[in-house]
Amino acid sequence: MAVTRFAPSPTGYLHIGGLRTSLYSYLWARKTGGEFRLRIEDTDLARNSEEAMKAIINAFDWVGLNYDGEVFYQSQRTDIYKQYIDKLLENGNAYKCYMSKEELDALRAAQEAAKQNPRYDGTWRPEEGKILPQIPEGVEPVIRIKAPTTGTIEFEDGVKGFMKFDANQVDDFVIARSNGMPTYNFVVAIDDALMEMTDVIRGDDHLSNTPKQIVVYNALGFKVPKFYHVPMINNPEGKKLSKRDGAMDVMDYKNQGYLPEALLNFLVRLGWSNGDQEIFSMEEMLELFDPSNINKSASAYNAEKLLWLNSEYIKAVSNDRLIKELKFFDLDLSHHPKRTELLDLAKQRAQTLVELKKSITDIIDVPTSYEEAGVKKFVKEDTKEFLEKYLVLLEENKDNLYDALKVEEITKPFINENGLKFPQLFQPIRLALTGGTQAPSVYDIIAILGFNEVSSRLNEALK
Ligand code: GLU
Repeated sequence: MAVTRFAPSPTGYLHIGGLRTSLYSYLWARKTGGEFRLRIEDTDLARNSEEAMKAIINAFDWVGLNYDGEVFYQSQRTDIYKQYIDKLLENGNAYKCYMSKEELDALRAAQEAAKQNPRYDGTWRPEEGKILPQIPEGVEPVIRIKAPTTGTIEFEDGVKGFMKFDANQVDDFVIARSNGMPTYNFVVAIDDALMEMTDVIRGDDHLSNTPKQIVVYNALGFKVPKFYHVPMINNPEGKKLSKRDGAMDVMDYKNQGYLPEALLNFLVRLGWSNGDQEIFSMEEMLELFDPSNINKSASAYNAEKLLWLNSEYIKAVSNDRLIKELKFFDLDLSHHPKRTELLDLAKQRAQTLVELKKSITDIIDVPTSYEEAGVKKFVKEDTKEFLEKYLVLLEENKDNLYDALKVEEITKPFINENGLKFPQLFQPIRLALTGGTQAPSVYDIIAILGFNEVSSRLNEALK
């Protein structure tokens, strides 16, 4: 039974990298019958915003990753963290450091000059038989944790394998600032321990924090969870993903007409695979996902694949669902008498809900203008004449126009008899009925609109 979490910092929107690690965490918890928790890491008061927090929770709601239990807010847990700081001070695993900013800066400069990694030099670290400096007046101390000075800090990462850090890579880092506020790596470790995380799945940009967090676990005698550090998502050129490549707010995907299940399917495959299978329902993800199969190398964002997946999901979901989704784009088809025909037709070609809406409104909205290039190209001297003739034919068959095949049956002989080529008839009709030349098959449009509407739009265009 895995207990996992998503721990966003509300400093901006929820981006797809964060959604991916939370999807992995969610799947692993649900698959094993465990728990998936949400913790808001809002201790950086200067960079947090209420708006960002709401946006993250909204995005979570949209994709439907539901979490268990109450949401933890780190900003409300300072007292708890302080208790653990006191405990560490009492058991000798942490100490007060009175080094002033000037002294620290000087130390850093000297280390830099000697090409050494900047690290605290242990001036205030109590050791047996060591005499500590005189406590200076007027300096509020920071609290530092006693990190091991020899040996290694090791853990088995579920993605990266065995990880080993020399103890000298972690210094006695600050766990509470001089104003008493606990620091990031300290509170993350405390919360993960108190929330009883068994598995921490997060981006590998956090890998360098892990040895520090392990120092905290060990100092307090907490059990260290299993870590999975997931490689980043790169752009197709292998560089850091930028906004232009698609490092977008999860809600941008909603606004651009993606279905959440397509986005989740896309993300599960970005960094994990099951043979060459591309389409995974939530049930299949739950059945097949295992974090120990997460790819070891970075994955490449592929916008075309996301579009393809989205078009597959648009075809696969029910029309009722599409009707519901289209409301977000201000199209309400719930009472439209031809909603089934419209959706069945439009979803065959739509890659996004925005395109789906457009191909539907292209049909149902009476055109207010006609695409100029199309008119120039397809409307010729004789166009009016054969359109009028065609309209007569449609009227003669008006009770049979309810189905595209019937329309085709009467139209094909008409084209032959009049020695026309298909575009010669179809493009002017498309223009007359929809205003453009891109819409789907003319047979379908006529069948959906019915004779009266077709006749009124054709007559309007023929004026
Ligand atoms: N709050 C961190 C972030 O948003 C995540 C911390 C973690 O997963 O341990 O990047």
